[in-house]
Amino acid sequence: MSGNSDTVGSVAAQAPAAVVEENDLPEFFNGFCADQTRAPTGETRIDGMKAILTRAALMWENGRTLTVGFVEVPGTARQQQKVKDTVKEWEQYANLRFQFIDNPAVATIRISFRKNVGSWSYIGKGCLSATIPKTSPTMNFGWVEDTAFTAPQENGTILHEFGHAIGYLHEHQSPRRGEKLQLKEQVVIDYYARTQNPPWNAEKTRQNVLNVYNTSEVTNFSACDFTSIMMYFMPAEFNVQGIAIKPNNVLSPLDKAFAFLNYPFTPGTASVDPSVTVVSALNTIGITGAVRASIATEWAEGDWQGVRAEFTRWSVNQKALNDKAAASAEREEIAAAVPTASPIAVN
Ligand SMILES: [Zn+2]
Repeated sequence: MSGNSDTVGSVAAQAPAAVVEENDLPEFFNGFCADQTRAPTGETRIDGMKAILTRAALMWENGRTLTVGFVEVPGTARQQQKVKDTVKEWEQYANLRFQFIDNPAVATIRISFRKNVGSWSYIGKGCLSATIPKTSPTMNFGWVEDTAFTAPQENGTILHEFGHAIGYLHEHQSPRRGEKLQLKEQVVIDYYARTQNPPWNAEKTRQNVLNVYNTSEVTNFSACDFTSIMMYFMPAEFNVQGIAIKPNNVLSPLDKAFAFLNYPFTPGTASVDPSVTVVSALNTIGITGAVRASIATEWAEGDWQGVRAEFTRWSVNQKALNDKAAASAEREEIAAAVPTASPIAVN
């Protein structure tokens, strides 16, 4: 990919507006969260803007109430209200509660509104790390403004960062991204070097955008969902397929289905949105056969850990099946090409 200098040259030579359609994209999209999950400290903070990948070890116990407080810079009443209102959306699909409390020192999730440091959050239980002072934020909103109404992109940012807080990773780094999207490495590296302040170096762009998560790092995932709240927007120039990914400001059907299977409203607990059920979640994700039956059974028995575990098994298996299909398609392609390329090999 790095040898693809024609493409790189032509994209870099254009004004940035031509590349990212600035008209459609607010200025703050120039600020992406930088994923620090693989930082040398081993911390699990992930900075970022726009995932339905989850890590079981970092997910909360189902049904839990998470306390939330505001620390320095705590924001205005209007900024705080935007967060309080927007986060209710997750409570409709994930069996979790966010309780806002006055004393941030005892809050599990601590939010600040510091400018110029981007928007980011620790992933799930990562915010419990003893290395984070109780006076420090575990989530920051660099671009939620002190205005009367929540702008669509602010809605997107809040849902995205709370997605991290309940254990979601970045969707654009899905282990299955390659099935749908091949990124043009050098174009992407040039873009982040040009648009970020301070500019991202190649290493940082690899870590936050280009590299996909290893299947041992993530637990459940589906085919890459371009409409996920956890997906970064991407101009069409970024990928071989020429697919433009618009900024996502609302939860996608898969985001909701994942929330339900990871944090299920088991029988006897009422989901706020009755349209998302175990059956609709299984249908949306496309889980069939024996795994579907066992997830439904675990759910009916109220065993949320069983639901999560089965779902994880299914995800890993799906990836293996897709990898196998891709490998055999490649072998067939090679075999088909052999007679013309090298007749001798036919015998
Ligand atoms: Zn992010």
